Amino acid sequence: MPDLATRRERLACLRRMVIENREEIARVIDTDFGGRPRQETELLEIVPLLKGLRSTSAHLKKWMRDESRHVAWPFQPGTAWVRYEPLGIVGIISPWNYPLFLALGPLVDVLAAGNRALIKPSEITPGFSDLLQRLVSAYFDADVVAVETGGVEVAQAFSALPFDHLFFTGSTSVGRKVMQAAAANLTPVTLELGGKSPAVLAPDYPLDKAARSIVLGKFSNAGQTCIAPDYVLVPEAKADALAREIISGIETAYPAERSESGYASIITERHRTRLLEAVQEARDSGAAILRPSGDYGEKFPPTLVINAPEEGLLLSEEIFGPILPIVTYRTLDEALAFIHRRSRPLALYVFTDDGEARRTILDGAISGGVTLNGTLLHVAQDNLPFGGVGKSGIGAYHGRDGFRRMSHARSVYKPGFINTFERLGPPYGRLADLAVR
Ligand code: NAD
Repeated sequence: MPDLATRRERLACLRRMVIENREEIARVIDTDFGGRPRQETELLEIVPLLKGLRSTSAHLKKWMRDESRHVAWPFQPGTAWVRYEPLGIVGIISPWNYPLFLALGPLVDVLAAGNRALIKPSEITPGFSDLLQRLVSAYFDADVVAVETGGVEVAQAFSALPFDHLFFTGSTSVGRKVMQAAAANLTPVTLELGGKSPAVLAPDYPLDKAARSIVLGKFSNAGQTCIAPDYVLVPEAKADALAREIISGIETAYPAERSESGYASIITERHRTRLLEAVQEARDSGAAILRPSGDYGEKFPPTLVINAPEEGLLLSEEIFGPILPIVTYRTLDEALAFIHRRSRPLALYVFTDDGEARRTILDGAISGGVTLNGTLLHVAQDNLPFGGVGKSGIGAYHGRDGFRRMSHARSVYKPGFINTFERLGPPYGRLADLAVR
């Protein structure tokens, strides 16, 4: 079992790998996307990965300690404790939208817990996947970490391997297939999936502040973020004013002269077509479509949709692009009912300074995680578990929770100088009668 020093050295090696190849990583991701601002790769991938690495390395000694547990009287004076041991070999399957952070973020927890890993990155970012394979084989022994590249066939074969744990990040539909493949080997899974994450604006909250946070969360990486606010619920009387604030927020974030260069592309033509069709469907059914000024060139411009049909694509499937439906409500109960008609989301954003409204929304809408009066930021907290609930995922990672998820909690009991329980019998006598009382 790898000791603390070995684990820390592996984490340090991962850190060196990223730092020494920072430029190339950002360049390759930019090419795979057909244009993504370097700052987005830095701020949303490289920096959080390095921050998580530093924090995990610093706390690892404490997390690895055996944990003493209470012993009930019939087992006294014995001692009981839990050892956090490696699971073995962990398979990691990652998506294209944050190709670095979602392949190597799980690896931090996997290595911290003393495991070995095999990674299958996405075929949709081929440049990055090849680079990752090259870097990992240069920095790590192949029996500690290795990368297997390829498309759906490779992915299917990969998920059928008898891993000790399979860590999947991607869509809910593929997650279901991965879990089915893993079941044949009784391989436990962690599934980090998608969904429709709502932002709920309560009547008291300033629209301009909410708009700023929503623009950041929704239009970074052109909306291709698993925890991006998928749609906004807003009091009926405030919908138009909120739309104006969001449009103005977009124009500030992506000023006309830089609206194309400062903004990410949609990853493939297929994804772009899906988004265009969803907007067209909403337009055909009478929804209003709003766009900011600015020249987005070939890129898919930020798009607001008011009065999208509830049964249409925009309000029934995960959007995963820069389209924001604005949905109105009359009472908070009506807003909660709207959320409930959909699967449990990965994230929830609540904008209010009113304690009662906050409690009502938090109690009334289930989600994997929450940021209050902001978007995305709960994922950046090294000490919070990150994961979904229901159809948005199984299991959480990051920090100590990730270390534990990737560990086997092994129970150990050691009797004291008298083994009280064995004295109870058989043959059963007075002591056994006392114990069952
Ligand atoms: P995807 O499910 O299409 O692909 C993810 C990975 O699965 C890829 O590596 C792919 O090669 C592999 N794969 C494809 N078919 C497979 C099969 N049959 N068996 C095994 N593996 C297979 O997802 P995507 O399009 O790359 O990513 C977008 C989705 O991921 C969105 O739904 C988004 O919400 C979700 N996501 C979730 C998180 C999270 O942390 N919860 C993070 C990012 C993305």
